[in-house]
Amino acid sequence: MKIFCIGRNYRDHAKELNNPVPSEPMVFGKFSTALLKGNKPFHYPEFSNEIHHELELVLKVKTHGKHIDPQFARKYYDEISVGIDFTARDVQAKLKAKGHPWEIAKGFNGSAPCGEFVPIDSLPDRESINFELLKNGDSVQKGNSSDMIFHFDTLVAHISKYFLISKGDLIYTGTPAGVAEVKIGDELRASLEGQELLRCKVL
Ligand code: ZN
Repeated sequence: MKIFCIGRNYRDHAKELNNPVPSEPMVFGKFSTALLKGNKPFHYPEFSNEIHHELELVLKVKTHGKHIDPQFARKYYDEISVGIDFTARDVQAKLKAKGHPWEIAKGFNGSAPCGEFVPIDSLPDRESINFELLKNGDSVQKGNSSDMIFHFDTLVAHISKYFLISKGDLIYTGTPAGVAEVKIGDELRASLEGQELLRCKVL
């Protein structure tokens, strides 16, 4: 199982971190050991003092493929959920300054909580999907898929140019604005179209 992630896929988030808007999808990966399923708690890692939540829509790959044409891309995924791309922002800032890869800031153990999946066809409008993150009951991130710079089909086509995608692979599609720190004791809850699909306690 592979976890693909997309960076800077919402203009308002690129702006809040003073990053330029990319001209093609920015792809990075997490390892399978990053995945947290079944509402398991997240253990705050000792190597960071600044872990941020990034709420994202997550696609599940339905069948294997490579060099997928965008017009056929939707045949390769049919389920969606919400997930959190936990990021050690302090570590990432140092890596970015040196031009080094991001893996230790993004792909560490438990850095990818993922909710229950629902069929995309069960949603009211697949082109306009609302999602939200609550932290200790307060709304901290709200997004809509229509604000993505690169949409699902473009992402799947782009990733498949470089990597064989396989059944069960996950694609974290980028975060809207509102990323912020989590602290030990916080409880995160994420929903899709008002339906809670993920809970994650920070321990
Ligand atoms: Zn992210």
